[in-house]
Amino acid sequence: MDTENPRKRSRIEVHSEIRGESAPAIRDKNYYLADGDCVIRIGNILFKVHRFLLVRDSSAFADMFSMPEGSATQNMATDEDPIVLHDTIDEFRALCWIIYALPMVYVNQMDALKVEIAKITCLYLIAHKYHFESHEQFARKVIIAHCSDIKDASPDIRTHFTECFPNHLESLLRIACLTESGSNDSSLSSILQDIWVFRMYDTKRFQNPSQTLSLAQSLGLRRFLGRLYYFLLRCTWGHNPSIEGSTAYLRTDLNLPLEQRIAVYEGYWSLQQYWSNFLNAPPKTFQCPVLRRHACDRVWKGYFSMHRGDFNQRIFDPLAFLGQMETQVIKFNERQYGVLSIDCVITYLRQKRKELEDTLADHFLPQNL
Ligand SMILES: [Zn+2]
Repeated sequence: MDTENPRKRSRIEVHSEIRGESAPAIRDKNYYLADGDCVIRIGNILFKVHRFLLVRDSSAFADMFSMPEGSATQNMATDEDPIVLHDTIDEFRALCWIIYALPMVYVNQMDALKVEIAKITCLYLIAHKYHFESHEQFARKVIIAHCSDIKDASPDIRTHFTECFPNHLESLLRIACLTESGSNDSSLSSILQDIWVFRMYDTKRFQNPSQTLSLAQSLGLRRFLGRLYYFLLRCTWGHNPSIEGSTAYLRTDLNLPLEQRIAVYEGYWSLQQYWSNFLNAPPKTFQCPVLRRHACDRVWKGYFSMHRGDFNQRIFDPLAFLGQMETQVIKFNERQYGVLSIDCVITYLRQKRKELEDTLADHFLPQNL
């Protein structure tokens, strides 16, 4: 279990030092515009931009600038008297990028190979924060368009999501859940959960497990919780040394509060029963026309008696086992029976897998949670 990456941690610390507001100010390379009429300081970076672009799109800047005469925000065109914001520099740059964008920039965002996903995700966060309604909608649509199946997304997009800081992903998920709550459309939050799980499988790491589980719980994402616990369970499996002079094994230090630790072990207990029942009581017959059914049953029986032992492995992963079975059955059938269609068996295995995915959380959590 790898919960901390020291290299990345030190990068965050360096980053926050740079943000220190006491450091001498530096003008941003791209967004300090000589004829701008409003200076904004974030950390030690100064931006000079045009007010009229910031107040469009019913943004919160409109309120900020409509304060009465003589208030501090009136004179804000000088480096000495900037508006100080506490966003990240990347986020504010993403906002500047889009308010000054020319048409081709927008067009390119709809192209999977040209989209600038790091900017788009930062834009989504900052546009939400300052109520740039159409920019927020735009960023949301772009993320949905390119990430609806993260496994098929472009390499740049996958890299962005596997390498970004966990708190970036967390902010995205929080806002997606917040804006989608109460609506029928939960597409962005589902996509972000898929991305999160993809990232864990891809990097074989579960960063900050306790914090992530609490996040999923506070957002009421039961299905997501099930997937997180399942991954956690997989991580604990097969690497533990036994205790010297005992038949018992050392437990993986999950570094979780008791409640979450119990959920992991209860889930394991429940999944073990599920799997053992599956292996001990496989279906005897399939839903096929009677004439064909006999042949289908024979294929399945042949396959199962030969291979069931394969699925009593040290690494316990029923979801993966069901996938492997499906592939094996197809191969087995090709070798033994050639042309016979065994769609019913394949459908059965696929259904089992989907059923398990859909009810994963029930293994780890009480029904009412
Ligand atoms: Zn059949």
